[in-house]
Order: sequence, then C-alpha cells, then structure tokens
Amino acid sequence: MTIKLSILGSTGSIGENTLRVADNLGQKFDITYLTANRNSDKLIAQAKKYTPKAVAIIDEKAGKKVSSALQDNIEVLTGREGLLELAGRDDVDIVMNGLVGSAGMEPTLRSIEAGVNVALSNKESLVMAGSIIETAKKKSGAALFPVDSEHSAIWQCLAGEKIADVRKIILTGSGGPFRTREIYTFKDITPEEALHHPNWNMGNKITIDSATMMNKGLEVIETRWLFGLLADEIDIVIHPQSIIHSMIEFVDKSVKAQLGVPDMKIPIQYALTYPRRSSANWEELDLIKSGQLTFEEPDLEKFPCIKLAYEALRAGGSTPAVLNVANEQAVYRFLDGEIKFTEIPAIIEKACANHHYISEPTLEDLLALELWATEFVNAYN
Ligand code: MG
Repeated sequence: MTIKLSILGSTGSIGENTLRVADNLGQKFDITYLTANRNSDKLIAQAKKYTPKAVAIIDEKAGKKVSSALQDNIEVLTGREGLLELAGRDDVDIVMNGLVGSAGMEPTLRSIEAGVNVALSNKESLVMAGSIIETAKKKSGAALFPVDSEHSAIWQCLAGEKIADVRKIILTGSGGPFRTREIYTFKDITPEEALHHPNWNMGNKITIDSATMMNKGLEVIETRWLFGLLADEIDIVIHPQSIIHSMIEFVDKSVKAQLGVPDMKIPIQYALTYPRRSSANWEELDLIKSGQLTFEEPDLEKFPCIKLAYEALRAGGSTPAVLNVANEQAVYRFLDGEIKFTEIPAIIEKACANHHYISEPTLEDLLALELWATEFVNAYN
C-alpha cells in the first residue's frame, strides 16, 4: 500500500530532505501535494519529477511561471489561500509541515481539522497555538508526529513507555556558534557570523534562533504541547557535539537517550515510517570518531531568550504566541542589519510585557496578535 504524502514547504531545507527520504523509501510513498513560498524554479523541477496532483505557491507572480511550466497536467494554486486549501485536503495520509515560522500555524490546524496526521517540523505551530491544536486533535482524532530532532528523540525514547513514568525531559542543544564567545562582544555579532552553525545545516530563521538559543526556548514550549509536561519538568543541557538528541529521566532515575549523526533525514524518516523503521544508506554514527561527548549548563546571561521562553510558557495564554512573532520579526530585522544581536531578546521582552494578554486566545485572537507584534517590533528603534 502506498502512503500519500503532502509536503508543505517542499523547496526549503526540511522539504528537500523529506523528498530525499521519500526517494529512499521508494514505492512506499506517493507525493500528492507540494507547496512553496516563491521558489518557482525548484517547485517546477520537483513537480516534474514527482508529478503531484496539485502544487501551491504563495507568490502570485511566481505562480504564473509555475502554471505555464506545468500547463494542464498539474493543478496550480496560488497565494496564502492556495496553501491553506492544500493543507486542508483530506485525500492524503500524512502532511509534512516544513514551513518556516508563524506562517506554518494555520496550515497545521487545517490538516489536523481535516483529520490528517501531521509530521511537524514547524515548531512555531505549537508555540503559538498549542491549546487550539490540542483541542482540534481531540475532535478529529488526527495525530502530530514530531520531526524536530529533539522531540523525535523523546518520542523514540518513549516507545513502549508510559508518559506517567517520566520524571523529566532533558532537551539537548549544541549551544550554537557563540557558546564560547565572550559576552561583552555579543553586541558586535554580525548576521554572517550568526548564520554559521557548527553542526546543523538549516534555513536562516532557525539558524539565527540557534545562535540566540531562542530555538531551544521554543523547543521547551513545543515539548510541553507534544508530551504534556510542565515547564519545571523540562530541562536544557548543552551538548556541543549534537550526538545525543535528547533524553528522558524516568521516575526510577533511569535515563534513556537517542543518539545519531546530526542529520534531519533520520527524524523525518521516523515520522514518515512510524511505528516501523525502514533501512537507509546515509551516514552512520561512528562513536570512536565522535570521541568525547560533553555536557554543560546553558548560560542564561549570554542567552536570555531561553529565560524569556520559560517565562512565556509559565505565563501561558497569548504570551508564547507574542514571544514567537516578536522573535521572528526581530530575527528578520537583525538579518537586515537594522538591529543588534543583543536587541533581539530586549525587543521580545518588551513585546511580551506590552501586549494585551488573553488567557484562552482563539485563532482570530492569535492572528490579530500576530499583526500587533509584527507592528510593535518593526516600530522599535
Ligand atoms: Mg531542534
């Protein structure tokens, strides 16, 4: 039986790795839908190779190019509405959400509401709308399969276990490119320096999030919604080699870890083949070559974003959504050379403190807050 797969964000880093995984799995997968933001050339090439039923591209102008290249063979949808329509189609078995940032939230919700399981790489979905997505999951019966390497590790460690037996979750993080840099030089960090991650090759937004360590903070919030734990039950440990992808401590003090080379194809494939595993020929973990595995406490003075994320999780309601949007906008302003690296957490803190708090935000509330936080951050100077 072939499994019908829809890939949201197919031209990005997660999307391309998902297609490599699909190639590895061969006949088992049928690529039904592909979506892109504006990379028409890559989307056209992918559509010609995988012949999906339909594709969607956000950028209208790029959409014209895709339509004429694919002619009448493949349905082409455009704009945000096109993406949301494909995300909500229920004639697939699984959706891979590899979209970047808050733009991925609504598509996750559409797929879950349509009763389709979602392999979730877009952690921002849960950071912003964890409670709404949880309610939608209960209603439709659809599930979320974690793709983030840490959450895949936790999920794999939980196989055969009971969540009630978990004492705490230990999220590992590489510490990013500035782990050993002197704190007084942080204000001089350039986008170019921040875009150079030591272990993982990823898109720009998540690479900057790794440099500020907001990525780890967002992952703490993601952990809360995926596994139902409290902020106090989620720890962060810095592990610069990125070999252990996360750990679980059980009530009997036994600790389970999942290891592997830092390659997103492994968590992607696990999400797509779950609960089974399929063989793959990519690089294997060589423990002798890896050498020492080391661990450190996270430095909250260098990386205040971690603290902000824990505070947002404890505040709950609309705060994590504001944290997420403010972070995203601050990251883009930093990449554009408009603000300093050290201003990213400062702006986020202001946005969280100044927003109109809502204890149980609806989707409409979240979309309105997204606009508010975007304006707030862009007005800052
Ligand atoms: Mg991760």
